[in-house]
Amino acid sequence: MAKKQFKAESKRLLDLMINSIYTHKEIFLREIISNASDAIDKLCYLSLTDDKVGMNRSDFFIEITVDKDARTITVTDNGIGMDRDELENNLGVIAASGSYKFRQEAGESEDVDIIGQFGVGFYSAFMVSDSISVVTKKYGAEQAYRWESSGADGYTVTECERGGVGTDVVMHIKEDTEDEKYGEFLDNYKLYSLIKKYSDYIRYPIRMLTPVQKEKEGSDPEKPEYEMVDELTTINSMVPLWQRKRSEVTDEEYAKFYQELARDFDKPQRVITVSVEGSITYRALMFVPSRKPMNYNTEDFEKGLQLYSAGVMIMDKCDALLPDYLRFVRGVVDSPDLSLNISRELLQHDRQLKVIAKNLEKKILADLGKFMKDDREGYEKFYANYGRSVGYGVVSEGGEARREELQELLMFYSSTEKKLTSLREYADRMPEGQKCIYYAAGESAAQIDALPQTELLKDRNYEVLYLTGEADEFVLQSLQKYADKPFRSIVDGDLELGDTDGEVLDEKSDLMKFVKETLGDKIKEAKVSRRLKTHPACMSAGEGFSFEMEKYFKNFDMSQPMKADRILELNTKHPSVMAMETALLTDRAKAELYAKILYNQALLIAGLPLDDPSAYTDMVAELMK
Ligand code: ADP
Repeated sequence: MAKKQFKAESKRLLDLMINSIYTHKEIFLREIISNASDAIDKLCYLSLTDDKVGMNRSDFFIEITVDKDARTITVTDNGIGMDRDELENNLGVIAASGSYKFRQEAGESEDVDIIGQFGVGFYSAFMVSDSISVVTKKYGAEQAYRWESSGADGYTVTECERGGVGTDVVMHIKEDTEDEKYGEFLDNYKLYSLIKKYSDYIRYPIRMLTPVQKEKEGSDPEKPEYEMVDELTTINSMVPLWQRKRSEVTDEEYAKFYQELARDFDKPQRVITVSVEGSITYRALMFVPSRKPMNYNTEDFEKGLQLYSAGVMIMDKCDALLPDYLRFVRGVVDSPDLSLNISRELLQHDRQLKVIAKNLEKKILADLGKFMKDDREGYEKFYANYGRSVGYGVVSEGGEARREELQELLMFYSSTEKKLTSLREYADRMPEGQKCIYYAAGESAAQIDALPQTELLKDRNYEVLYLTGEADEFVLQSLQKYADKPFRSIVDGDLELGDTDGEVLDEKSDLMKFVKETLGDKIKEAKVSRRLKTHPACMSAGEGFSFEMEKYFKNFDMSQPMKADRILELNTKHPSVMAMETALLTDRAKAELYAKILYNQALLIAGLPLDDPSAYTDMVAELMK
């Protein structure tokens, strides 16, 4: 029978496995057992909703058999099995497992690490085997099939016999070489310790013939004699990681579990464990990834936690367990109290599930609060990745309910500290008498720092929060205040600095009227500024809709673009404004030119587009003549 060829990328991975110099080849067993466990998960779930399966949870098992003479290790499961198409698609192609993609991202040179971190699924068996055959019968099917391959030259699929539903993976172990003693894997004790080491938490019994001490039959009960007899023994403790006490699990174990679950190279940044006993009992093991997934901000990103009921996997990504803004969290929830005989779709709306979700949200927020306190540097790294999501939590629907916790998690750049600061820290530093929490929004701290409006506050040593995230301003606006102090943009509106309020400013109404007349609809108003010191002019937006919001909304397709009011503030003590005032008496055309130039300059500093850049440069050129 002609051999079928592996798909190109599978073939390359296969070559890599066959010629692997990886020193921990032993992980192949973990990979094959993990596939068996997944296959059982699928049939076990089916058996909950379909009586025809006729299996109980306790009927499922994984069995390891060794034939030293034939040099084979067989891993048998009574899971869902595969039909012919599935054999072709699942074992002939690696795309499904995603490992290949990671390998590409990491670059060829890091092959070895990838094997260590995730394993590479089924193919890893080729690190220790020179041929593999898979005998499998799918649940509900009549016919069983055998898939066979001795490596990169291809595989065959033929019909065969198999008693019940399930799969046997028969690995023919390579001959020993000078450097590698493959034969050690045929040793029962070696296999026993590998199962203990890597697969102890598997939730189905992994059975293997193991020598146990027995009393010899017919031996004298007074002076019993013993002999070693091989008995089928369950080797794993079957306690999944999330059922174990946190103090009994090492960071390494959590990291490995996370890396498999999230298919990530990195260790998680945070491990969150939850254990609740009461009207609803459940346990959760959650992780905050160290890196933002590539597709985090796209529609492709699927949020959700794995959902188990008493150790049976119900759903791989249950999205009802996480609010959108916490969608970066990965993990597992296990509750024996969930109603299993309803569809997955209905389960998503289950009342108990909602109760669990609410509590998980609280726990995650509490943990992030602790994170900020305990490990500031780590938290700042977290914030760089997910700060936007935290802010989104504040403004999103129903955000009021968790505002108290969320506002403590926010961070902004501080003008005085020159680093990120929390609102709590800002409030604690506030001098007595300061009425508002000041902020300015812009593209970068440097750009904001150069705004004319910051000058006066710097002069008085007031701390200003520099908001550089595109939605930061919305976040503060929806909070409105913190520690009873309202947020106030230093760019717009009244600064309420106290001492200037009483200062009588000459309103220069004729000059301002002239400027407004000259600029017409381009501005809402021209006024004497209370906040400028060395700069001649700035643009402010009045209360409400700010320039940063205007820029933000520009990204959306809107028939009527949202625009902030433009109020031109002029520093009447500045020589250029005084020059305009003088010109107004003798040369109106010149005064108009000055007014237009000042207007354009104010736009430029605010980071707003000029109406007509070439007209502006012509005006400046005119002055230089
Ligand atoms: P992964 O497990 O990461 O998807 P693998 O290469 O290990 O990648 O396995 C590929 C696919 O083959 C699995 O997703 C599964 O569909 C199928 N498979 C592997 N082993 C078994 C098994 N024992 N029973 C049923 N299906 C299996």
